[in-house]
Amino acid sequence: MFRFSTIKDYHTTLQNGQTTCVEAVRCYLELIRERPQLNAFLEVYGTEALERAAALDLERQQGKPLGKLHGVVVGLKDVISYKSHAVSAASRILGNFTAVYNATAVDKLLAEGAIIIGRQNCDEFAMGSSNENSAFGPVRNAIDESRVPGGSSGGSAVAVQAGLCMISLGSDTGGSVRQPADFCGVVGLKPTYGRVSRYGLIAYASSFDQIGIFAGSVADAALALEVIAGADDFDSTVSPREVPAYSRELAAPDKTYRIAYFKEALEHPGLDPAIRESVEAFIKKLTDQGHTVKSIDFELLEYVVPTYYVLTTAEASSNLSRFDGVRYGYRADMAGGDLTELYKASRSEGFGKEVQRRIMLGTFVLSAGYFDAYFTKAQQVRQILHQRTQSIFSEYDAIISPTVPATAFRIGEKSHDPVEMFLADIYTVFANLVGIPGISLPLFKHPNGLPFGLQVMTSQFDEISLLRLSRQLTAIPG
Ligand code: GLN
Repeated sequence: MFRFSTIKDYHTTLQNGQTTCVEAVRCYLELIRERPQLNAFLEVYGTEALERAAALDLERQQGKPLGKLHGVVVGLKDVISYKSHAVSAASRILGNFTAVYNATAVDKLLAEGAIIIGRQNCDEFAMGSSNENSAFGPVRNAIDESRVPGGSSGGSAVAVQAGLCMISLGSDTGGSVRQPADFCGVVGLKPTYGRVSRYGLIAYASSFDQIGIFAGSVADAALALEVIAGADDFDSTVSPREVPAYSRELAAPDKTYRIAYFKEALEHPGLDPAIRESVEAFIKKLTDQGHTVKSIDFELLEYVVPTYYVLTTAEASSNLSRFDGVRYGYRADMAGGDLTELYKASRSEGFGKEVQRRIMLGTFVLSAGYFDAYFTKAQQVRQILHQRTQSIFSEYDAIISPTVPATAFRIGEKSHDPVEMFLADIYTVFANLVGIPGISLPLFKHPNGLPFGLQVMTSQFDEISLLRLSRQLTAIPG
């Protein structure tokens, strides 16, 4: 039977004639069918994926040049537009919406020979940390189906975790790639803000959103990043910087790094003691290997979650105002009547509870009487965080931390308490506030049997160091 380890190995077996793209797609379709209870996919493009696989097999057999992602089977979080396919942001309000163009990242995947197998469940409009906020039901963690996979890109994480596709694209506004990667035991990469185009990504908080990658290995994540990154005329926030050949850069010889960690992060009372112990033991190993690892004071840690939620809800309230029941998607069933009533009814029926809560919070922090107290203040904190980050990276190559303070919790366990849920983001939102790249590496296993990750961050646009260091870290024996 077909077995996947890395894209490189897969390409070797394709070239040897030991397997075909059609065989790979068949295998994934079968596995997806076997585990419907995971609820990872909202839609599977079976026939279409098989047809594309057959066309790619033919091209290969005819000796045509192969794309970097030739035959690679990819899943897309349901916030990334794929032309002529539904895209709903896991929301009722976009329930009957079809994408009219490709996201730039999707165009780039297709140009390099990828096969898109389906769209994946997530928290509604990417708001959440557990994937319980989807209008189409929760996603289940494949290691323990009574537990959440993390969020908001839960379906994309589980699809890679359970071997239902080779890689997935998700989106990360405050941790939505790294946090579910941590809960599911896979690699989750959030690039620098502006490294990957957001064109065709349904907006949550535009100054934070970034498309990210789930993969089984650092090498696969590097290759996928190399394909999807780069300038785009349709998104002026994307950097025109040249895209390095990350997959090749990865092969550089090992070196020692200057690594910092935040004292306040490891001493945080909400951090699971077993996670703290594992990370501390790992720091010891890093030092033994010749890296310089230092604890630094980061007294700003307690401000990152509030700052993140003030700014992202403000941006969300603005971004989501376009869903009014007139221009897009769902419209309440009202005979005649007033336009304002139509807006109200469509938005009340179309948006779920969490999205409504955030729109209201965002509208509040932007309102005339409170703007300075909340929004302006949060922008100032963001600026201070920027300055502090720059000064850290003038002395260090990387910052490490746990990705999440706890392992995957049970479905329903935290849904009653949004503030407790927000704390799951304490280590991840920082990278989005300051726009730096971050990755979660599946290095650890908790005594409770669940996996968890180490987060590594580097300075803006230094994905090369991030990926090289990650490759070194994943090679350290557990
Ligand atoms: N959990 C965070 C939130 O709910 C992060 C979401 C994300 O990165 N899309 O906002």
